[in-house]
Amino acid sequence: MTPVKSRFEPLFQAILSLFILSSCQWSPLPGDPPSLPAPPVENQNPAPPAQPPSLPESLSCESPDPEFQCLALKIVSYENPEAPTVLQKLEADLLVEQINAVWKPCKIGFQLEQYQSINPLTLGLEYNPEWRSQASQVRATFSDNQTLLIVATGKLTSSTIAVTQMPGVAPFGVLVEDSFAKNSLTVGHELGHYMGLYHFRNTTNLMNPYIGDSTKNLTSNQCGIARSTNQREWTQMMR
Ligand SMILES: [Zn+2]
Repeated sequence: MTPVKSRFEPLFQAILSLFILSSCQWSPLPGDPPSLPAPPVENQNPAPPAQPPSLPESLSCESPDPEFQCLALKIVSYENPEAPTVLQKLEADLLVEQINAVWKPCKIGFQLEQYQSINPLTLGLEYNPEWRSQASQVRATFSDNQTLLIVATGKLTSSTIAVTQMPGVAPFGVLVEDSFAKNSLTVGHELGHYMGLYHFRNTTNLMNPYIGDSTKNLTSNQCGIARSTNQREWTQMMR
């Protein structure tokens, strides 16, 4: 199943849609971006070990709490000659920090282990992908079995702002279009799908099909589903 959020719903939801769309005029990211810690020294040994990269403590979600689930992320950001990259590295770091605040009550966190800014045309992919026909190709291009994948694209066609492949049939990954890629509630919602959550109609819940400033809560039942999905499906992504 591939849940999507559409900007257009039947007429009886028109008023609700208008309200939610207006609340989706997202504010700029608050404050100045955090300064990055000094990069780690490169290993000069000829054969680097095939292990996840060690992250600075401020960017890691690893916890001494044995119940805490820390999952590795890969973010791919599209760029093209006419447009800067959708999500810069500092913006990606800030996004992950904000997503972690949303998921903290579930004792789930994320750390950005891989970041790429690429011109999709060089890989035979479109900057503005038609997600129904191209999402699988995009996921197959970038996904691996070590990280959860988020691809920040140009405009997704068909009135869709984000689409996520739920556990079941690979390839997996989130596609989120440029105008919502910096929004932690949008991307955090998509990660909820990644972890097996369906939509839940409650205007304060993260998994509400319409995402607004107030859709940030998670129930204990949702936490339980997400945590069991991670243990079942994403053990290789857990750190
Ligand atoms: Zn959704």
